[in-house]
Amino acid sequence: MRLSPSNAGLRPAGPPVSRLHFIAAALLFTALSANATPKKIDVLITGGTVLTMAGPNIERGSVAIDNGRIIAVGPSADIDRSYTAMTTIRAGGMAVLPGFVNAHTHIPMTLFRGIADDRDLMDWLTHYIFPAEAKNVSPDFVKWGTRLGAAEMIMSGTTTFADMYYFESDIARETKAAGLRGVLGQTFIDFPAPDNKTWDAAVDYMRKYAREWKNDPLITPALAPHAPFTVSKEHLQQVRALATELGAPILIHVSETKDEQRQVAERTGGLTPTAYLESIGFLADDVVAAHGVWLNADDIRTMAQRKVGVAHCPESNSMLASGIAPVVDMRAAGVDVGLGTDGPAGSNNNLDMVAEAASAAGLQKIAKMDPKALSARNVLEMATVGGARALNMSDRIGTLETGKRADVIIVDLQQPKSQPVYSVESAIVYAASGSSVVTTICDGRILMRNRNVLTVNVPETLRKAKEYRDKVLASLK
Ligand SMILES: [Zn+2]
Repeated sequence: MRLSPSNAGLRPAGPPVSRLHFIAAALLFTALSANATPKKIDVLITGGTVLTMAGPNIERGSVAIDNGRIIAVGPSADIDRSYTAMTTIRAGGMAVLPGFVNAHTHIPMTLFRGIADDRDLMDWLTHYIFPAEAKNVSPDFVKWGTRLGAAEMIMSGTTTFADMYYFESDIARETKAAGLRGVLGQTFIDFPAPDNKTWDAAVDYMRKYAREWKNDPLITPALAPHAPFTVSKEHLQQVRALATELGAPILIHVSETKDEQRQVAERTGGLTPTAYLESIGFLADDVVAAHGVWLNADDIRTMAQRKVGVAHCPESNSMLASGIAPVVDMRAAGVDVGLGTDGPAGSNNNLDMVAEAASAAGLQKIAKMDPKALSARNVLEMATVGGARALNMSDRIGTLETGKRADVIIVDLQQPKSQPVYSVESAIVYAASGSSVVTTICDGRILMRNRNVLTVNVPETLRKAKEYRDKVLASLK
């Protein structure tokens, strides 16, 4: 049937011919501008192997970035002709993937790196770390420690990290200046801390810190009660209520060591840390539990039901001989498991997420006596989208998809240590390392290009780190 204004029940408002001309002209203009005038954008990464972590890898792929956001991902042949970029990054022979998400660390502890290794956790904490922190940790200390950690993270491809430390507002300032994304947890603990000497002071600090950083595009203020055995039941419940009131997530260590299991069981009539936290109404989807080494089958079910994220820290668990977390079982139960380096002092001692991923795979293979237990692909997922899910940020980051924030890294696979490449995931996890990352972009901002860090003064930071080593050593005498 021929459609005319009369039989369609429409009456033209003006002369039909001029209207048609106008529509035709508009369509022609749209077609011409789509073909002839490529859209101007901020950054185009082209010609790399793109691991979107949301589907199959794209050989010779491109990622288009504008205004801090990913606006297109796909084969370079399709994408490139639509854009002209202020900055074009050629990524031939390289892997392009989402920035790593370090789901658990204590970033200013970079300045204590190597201070006391190869010791039991309790010996390390009570004889070295707690005294060194009491005597040295100040706003200036966390400033330089965070700056050093930020440089290391940028240079090894981490774009988001979850932190638990003191003076977290100062850490937030440094994190933002470096251009990184942070879920930054202010510590709550039942003894005088370097920043807040009383519980009430810590609560006041948290309220002010949350107010100051609310709605910041890069910084998410969080509450960080240290652990179920270092914070009383009443205080844990206060933290729970405050987190709900402020709409801020909670970061906490849970089931890290056998000793913690014993201490919590003694106080609670035999409960595991997870069962105890569940019994006091603490667990919810805004909680991220670090370690989870000693979770039993019931604990894992509880974590899945409550949608608690878990930060698996295989290098810390190895170095402190804490044990091997049941990662395969957690993933099978639907728990969101990310990867964390833990603090870089006595429990790692670096912030390299590629090394962490390789350790995660290795430990599960040993635990299950099965080389198929956790693959290179699985641990890369944990290092990116898994961490984003654990931190409740997967709507914004963790994959390379149109509409997500542009947190993107480029890994050079042309070095002798990673050639030849049969499988790109294997090349990254088992052969490359954090230092194979050549370019790091967070929220669309280039933080490192061709190994040149653009947002941190590295030589000045290294000088300060050495000064702090001498100061810390003197303070322990
Ligand atoms: Zn930790």
